[in-house]
Order: sequence, then structure tokens, then C-alpha cells
Amino acid sequence: MKITEIRLGTLSIPLKKPFKTALRMTDTVSSNIVEIRTDEGVCGYGEAPPTAAITGDTDGAIRCAVSARIAPALIGRDVSELNDMLFALDRCVVGNSSGKAAADIALHDLWGKCHKLPLYKILGGAYREFATDYTISLNEPDEMARDALEAVEEGYEALKIKVGSDFRLDMERIEAVRDAVGGNVQLRVDANQGWKPKEAIRAVRFMEDKGLGIELVEQPVVYHDIEGLKRVTDAVDTIILADESVYSPRDAMKLIGLRAADMINIKLMKSGGIGGALKICAMAEASGMDCMIGAMMESKVAVTAAAHLAMAHRCITKYDLDPPILCASDPVKGGVLYKGAILGLSEAPGLGITAIAGVEWEI
Ligand code: MG
Repeated sequence: MKITEIRLGTLSIPLKKPFKTALRMTDTVSSNIVEIRTDEGVCGYGEAPPTAAITGDTDGAIRCAVSARIAPALIGRDVSELNDMLFALDRCVVGNSSGKAAADIALHDLWGKCHKLPLYKILGGAYREFATDYTISLNEPDEMARDALEAVEEGYEALKIKVGSDFRLDMERIEAVRDAVGGNVQLRVDANQGWKPKEAIRAVRFMEDKGLGIELVEQPVVYHDIEGLKRVTDAVDTIILADESVYSPRDAMKLIGLRAADMINIKLMKSGGIGGALKICAMAEASGMDCMIGAMMESKVAVTAAAHLAMAHRCITKYDLDPPILCASDPVKGGVLYKGAILGLSEAPGLGITAIAGVEWEI
């Protein structure tokens, strides 16, 4: 089965309410869809949202990387040569982990279809269902408390609270959410790089001293301050999770070597897709480190790929795959199935996605 064409399209899905973090605000999932076509009429789907404030990848950068660098590296290749194509994909352009992720996901989708197996099975996984957390956007403390209570009433048992804009307000936000939801809900705090190392240590100690029962604190300091991240990790008892500090397997190797964080949040848009994510999983497993699987504001295409990966690796113990839940509609047919907070997968081959409605394809 040979690759004959790579198509690019755009997909836009409104959110139920604006998504706000310390780094950005958006009211839409806006994404680039990649379709890899073959001479046997089988297609693979991938996706790359332009999360420029995090990855640096704009729409233009993603689309240009796919059409000018990635497509020439893959067209004419046989779908069965997966690892060889991933090697070429990694080297065809520096950076642009999102564009690479879109192609990598589509290649894995095709690989599963080629072998007539769901992706998690061909990655060696055993079927299991898991629960995602639900993200509470960065707002005033009382609004966040209301949103948190609403989510708990809808059945979510783990919440991710976005903070990192103002240290004093952040502490009020966390306390307000804990007061609103009671003691039985798991709370994760994501500062999105918003604190200085000493502020972060003060913040985490405040949460510990107040007995707020915070399960983990994600990316407390700016992404490039690995030494600062390690200082925070060493100074507190709470689990520190690295997100923006780890993109590539190389980043993970450095972070694990230094033990600069307790866990890594794997996102396909950072790792350049499943190929890079599998290398991070291998290192995490070898060093006894657990990982979270997360996502950017993506449609169900990329989130489905993340769910297949999560099902294939036991080092992934926490799940932050709520973007499709935050969307007002679902244009993707097939793929990951949500029963409230619980995610499951079908036995359809590849990603299990059969159609995506509303994509505006480039001619
Ligand atoms: Mg994060």
C-alpha cells in the first residue's frame, strides 16, 4: 500500500465556553487536518492545532511544513515501512513538532488499517477504559468554584485547575475550588509556567500546609528553567509534573537524568506524534517514572491517537483528554468514545475514525 497524496484541510469547532490559561484564551478548537491517501483507496487521518503560544507552531508554519517538507519525504513510500518513514519525518524539517505529529498520527492510522487492527492493539496494548480529568479555566475564584462544582455534579471526579496569573489570586482560586467541591474530588493544579521558582515553592507549601489535598502541580515555572523546576521538585512533597519543559525524547532524557520533575505530561503535539511519545514512554518505564497523557485544544482526531497510546503503555497513569468534551459539537465520526469522564475505544482498525464533517480541504 503506497502513499500517493497528502491533503491539508481546516476544521473549526466552537467551544461550550472560552478556554483560558495563563498563556492564552480561545473560544474555538481550530485545527489543521491531514489526510494521507494511498493507492488502495485507504486514508489515514492526522491533526495539528496551531498552538503558537506553546509550541511556536502557527497555522502557516504547520501547513508549509506539511506541504513543502513532510509530503515530499513520504509520498511514494510503502505504508508498512513505518519506522523508516518516522525517521525521515523527524529529519525533514527542524522543529514543527505539531506538523510532524499530524503526519505521524496519520501514518499510525494507516499502519493499523494496513494490519486491520486498532492502533492500541498493534502497539501491544490491552483494552482498558480510563477516566479523564476536566479542566477548569482561569477565571475569578468564585467563577472557577462554580465551574468546578458544575463539573463534579456532571460526574467528573478529577479536575485540573488552571492558575499562574497572580500568586495571591491563585491561592484564592485553589482554596475556593476545594471549598466548593469538598474533599473527595481529585484536584490537579496547572500553573502553565506562571510562577518563579521561589513563588512556586511558596505556593506548593501553602497548599500542603492548608491541607488542600492537591494531587499534583503542573509546570510551575517557565519551560526553559529546568534547574528552577528541579529546585521546586526537590523542595516540596507534592508531585511536580513537567509539561512545557518536555517536548522531545531528548528533553525527557535530560529531565529524567536530572530528576527535575516527578512526572512528564506527554502530548503528541510536543513529541512530534506517537513515535516520539513511545520513546518517552520507554525512558519513563526504564526509570520508574509515571506519565500523564494530555492534549492541546484538539479535535477528537489527535485525542483518539493519544487514547490509543495511553491504552498501550502502563507508565501512563493519569489522563487529561477532555478537549472533545469542551467542544459544543463533534464532527468526527468514530474514534474515542466518551461515557461521561470514561474513555473507551472501538475495535475498528487504525484510529477507528471513518469520517470528519466540516473540513475545508485545500484544492
Ligand atoms: Mg499543562
